[in-house]
Amino acid sequence: MTDGFDPHSLRAQFPAFNTPGWVYLDSAATAQKPQPVIDAISRSYMMPTANVHRGQHQASLSATEQFEQARRDVAHFIGANPHNIVWTRGATEAINLIAYGLSHSLTPQDDILVSEMEHHANLIPWQLMAQRTGAQLVKIPCCPRTGTIDMKVYQQRLTARTRIVAISHVSNVTGTRHPIEEMTQVAHKFGATVIIDGAQGIVHEPVCMQTLNTDYYVFSGHKLYGPTGIGVLYGKPEALNALSPFHGGGKMITDVSFDHHTLASIPARFEAGTPNTAGAIGLAAAIDWLKQQDSQAIDAHITSCYQQLIDALRARPRIRLIAPQATSSMVSFVVGDEHHADVAELLAQQGIAVRSGHHCAHPFIKALGVDGTIRVSLAAYNTYQDITQFIAALDKTLDLLD
Ligand code: PLP
Repeated sequence: MTDGFDPHSLRAQFPAFNTPGWVYLDSAATAQKPQPVIDAISRSYMMPTANVHRGQHQASLSATEQFEQARRDVAHFIGANPHNIVWTRGATEAINLIAYGLSHSLTPQDDILVSEMEHHANLIPWQLMAQRTGAQLVKIPCCPRTGTIDMKVYQQRLTARTRIVAISHVSNVTGTRHPIEEMTQVAHKFGATVIIDGAQGIVHEPVCMQTLNTDYYVFSGHKLYGPTGIGVLYGKPEALNALSPFHGGGKMITDVSFDHHTLASIPARFEAGTPNTAGAIGLAAAIDWLKQQDSQAIDAHITSCYQQLIDALRARPRIRLIAPQATSSMVSFVVGDEHHADVAELLAQQGIAVRSGHHCAHPFIKALGVDGTIRVSLAAYNTYQDITQFIAALDKTLDLLD
């Protein structure tokens, strides 16, 4: 218990933990879902179901109201206007939407600055954009020892050619929290458009689009205790209006003739086809659930679990931590020359769920000088007991690999 916070009572709200015999330390991949989220999704299918924005009948009006309320809830959660919230399938789709939508305005004279530490979701769309437009992809390097952005080189590589700066809020490999405020401010001085991949960052700190002043911010519902298949693209009005639509189809137009169409206004023009209504409602329920929790107490608890974890790992000489952060919700490590997949497999055999491999971040993993890591990631429902069980299983693994 940290200052009156009881992780056990919070954990009791997650039916997944009724399944005995497992320790979940892979929340950076996806989070378990609390009962209110499951109930909200289930309720949305138990009631008469209907398509949104497509009918005068009561079921459709009600579905539309819930869907748009979810948009308002998400907007409020990140300090934005609901008109600036576009539903996507997740962070990946949101970044692809931006990269595709801005391609028409880039030329071979332009630079796209992307950090070396990105998840492939925030790298490949920019590579594809560079291929489409002839623009140059420019690397913002990292320091492999500290796992942080090299801010000096970042500032040197920002020039009048820079059109785009794409950076994650928090790394999914080392848990590094990037100085996104400062990076955004400097990028704007050069007239660059800033895209922040908030897939990991929004889970562990409040964000406010007004304060952050980024042009775009994206995240996925499933890492935020919400459902899979739903994500958010926030954009400033002028930033969203600058995008060409990514998908064409129903509900993204106001008028269509056989050889012409008029686009609907934002955000509808980016939401062609039937949306994931239950996903949006589920994500709003996750946000509502989060708002009811004591976020400071959760943060303090995760920090305390992280400290316990790091101390225990540091005490084992065969373990090498990879660019550990002072505070974080995750840590990556390797065990001597052992293959990361073997370690994860032996842990899995003892009921411990961790992630191993390159974490969809090949360039970063290479920069760190390893061929993969074992990543342990924490969420609000983890307990000290989880860490103790993990360390016991790790010790057994180390014996088996000896
Ligand atoms: N960005 C980061 C930093 C991530 O950690 C992830 C997923 O792990 C993604 C983007 C992609 O998220 P999704 O697969 O939900 O689109």
